Amino acid sequence: MSKSRIVIFGGSFDPIHVGHLALAREVCRQGLAREVWFMVSPQNPHKQDCCLSDERHRLNMVKLAIDGDEGFVASDFEFTLPRPSYTINTLAALEKHFPDKEFCLLVGADNWEKFDRWHRHDEIVARYGIIVYPRGNEEQPPLPNGVVWLKSPLYDVSSTMVRDLVSKGGSIDAYVHPAVAQYIHENKLYI
Ligand code: ATP
Repeated sequence: MSKSRIVIFGGSFDPIHVGHLALAREVCRQGLAREVWFMVSPQNPHKQDCCLSDERHRLNMVKLAIDGDEGFVASDFEFTLPRPSYTINTLAALEKHFPDKEFCLLVGADNWEKFDRWHRHDEIVARYGIIVYPRGNEEQPPLPNGVVWLKSPLYDVSSTMVRDLVSKGGSIDAYVHPAVAQYIHENKLYI
């Protein structure tokens, strides 16, 4: 029996926004995976994370945002791994923990450009495979075996934009799921 294919979408999700959700829907719509797992990162080796919101808040917001979306999973898997949790270690741990599943990574074209700086990047490509999605108007670059280019629209939103709007008292209704907006308000995040 073939293993079910899971796409790992890692991020800080501080907070999760409509761009993240639309992209994940596109992956499923194009039949690239059975499920997309939103892997909330406790710490990102490529990002200054001095000001990240508590990981529980970020996970809770992912759970609220994906509620009812079949095929979407909010994952705290990396919370239990030694930190910093390099992607290759996360993938190897996932493989061990879920032997009936096959994992693949979803990354933006901006990250793909500097992918050769990732820890054991060749092994990630060879063992797991990668789906790259556009972040700007870039053309599809030449890609090695195991890497697929996702044709998807661009979504003009970022978590930074959402946090800035909240801090200035602006409306974030167009950018996050209503339950996430409510959660941010109730927990006084980003003010
Ligand atoms: P921040 O503004 O805090 O840097 P972000 O909006 O980029 O956050 P992350 O949690 O870093 O959100 O996102 C996880 C992944 O989602 C990243 O690899 C990023 O490339 C991707 N992503 C973020 N925003 C979008 C978007 N609007 N469209 C497509 N991908 C996105």
